Amino acid sequence: MTFDDFDFDHDLLDGLDAMGFKKPTPIQEQAIPIILDNKDLIACAQTGTGKTAAYVLPILDKILVSGSYDINTLILSPTRELAQQIDQQIEALAYFIDVTSIAVYGGGDGAAWEQQKKAIKKGVDIVIATPGRLISHLTSGAFKFDKLQHLVLDEADRMLDMGFYDDIVRIISYLPKKRQTLLFSATMPPKIRTLANTILVDPEQISIAISKPAAGILQQAYMVHDKQKTGLIKKILKDGKYGSVLMFASTKEAVKNIDITLRKAGIGVKAFHSDLLQDEREEILREFKNKRVPVIIGTDVLSRGIDVEGIDLVVNYDVPPDPEDYIHRIGRTARAATTGTAITFITEKDQNKFARIEQLMGTEVTKLPLPEEFGEAPEYKPDTSKRSSGKKRFNKSRKK
Ligand code: AMP
Repeated sequence: MTFDDFDFDHDLLDGLDAMGFKKPTPIQEQAIPIILDNKDLIACAQTGTGKTAAYVLPILDKILVSGSYDINTLILSPTRELAQQIDQQIEALAYFIDVTSIAVYGGGDGAAWEQQKKAIKKGVDIVIATPGRLISHLTSGAFKFDKLQHLVLDEADRMLDMGFYDDIVRIISYLPKKRQTLLFSATMPPKIRTLANTILVDPEQISIAISKPAAGILQQAYMVHDKQKTGLIKKILKDGKYGSVLMFASTKEAVKNIDITLRKAGIGVKAFHSDLLQDEREEILREFKNKRVPVIIGTDVLSRGIDVEGIDLVVNYDVPPDPEDYIHRIGRTARAATTGTAITFITEKDQNKFARIEQLMGTEVTKLPLPEEFGEAPEYKPDTSKRSSGKKRFNKSRKK
């Protein structure tokens, strides 16, 4: 499935392109058609699954189709940080379209509120707010919700844990009864069900089970500079500790280059990529299964197709683009209750991506010290507050 299948507006697809989103994540595949169909939705999905874009994209598309008058969408978020992240993601996805958003949260001074009020007065399509802050301004008349079409509750379980139940119900009393309500939550405790029964109408339900790697996989990683990768992989492979090794790189070109480097170093390796004929690919896999070829290097095409028992080591020469790919890749080892090792090379550029993978798995992967002979390695210092990669919009005011 691709984003083209949703029949999105061209300018929205350009925004996706600029963000580097190539294909929808599972939550996006399931949630987008339901939201475009104007149905209420309860979605059980964690941060890291792409849940924000799962509701932002169809809402943006609907605004483009039907227009927007006053506030079109209200998104409730438990924290200021999440509100800001959602706002940034909307700005990035809406970069090529005339849809505006603003985050309204507590903790700032009066001046910040004055500024937010001014922006709202000018006209804004999407308001992202923390419940406490919004409640304290509902009576001020700044928010005109009579044209509201969508209400989104993001991380609903966290909002309830923080004691926002009554605030949420009160906020909803200010909204039109005829609206679409979308509830996203990482967990579904009974109180979420109760809230859902009160505020949603005949909702569709989806649940994205988060993948966990098999328990038998020993996960390790090295922080490296790009130029240290070849030396390190040669050392690991020449150690002779691992019989069958599967290696992954991000691009076909990288696969070909690593293949050449390793062969020059006398390592028995075969490259696996989409330029090969089906017969050639099958032959490589047969040789690998029969242990005549100890190392295969490929792109992610390899991780989904291969079903070989007894792989001792999976190497992520590059950090994979999304957590699901990481789990698929390392899942090729330690199959059927055996044990195996997965080693990932992380560069400074990729460390935020890797932190997201750790966050989704709920585990921290051991970072091994780089052997001294390779020199200084960078330190692992991910910045988990940087979640979206889109460009910044400079002018927030709406041209009505
Ligand atoms: P979320 O679960 O909404 O917090 O999203 C997690 C991260 O995945 C964010 O940094 C998004 O920018 C990114 N993301 C969302 N959808 C996609 C996609 N279809 N392809 C690649 N990255 C995505």
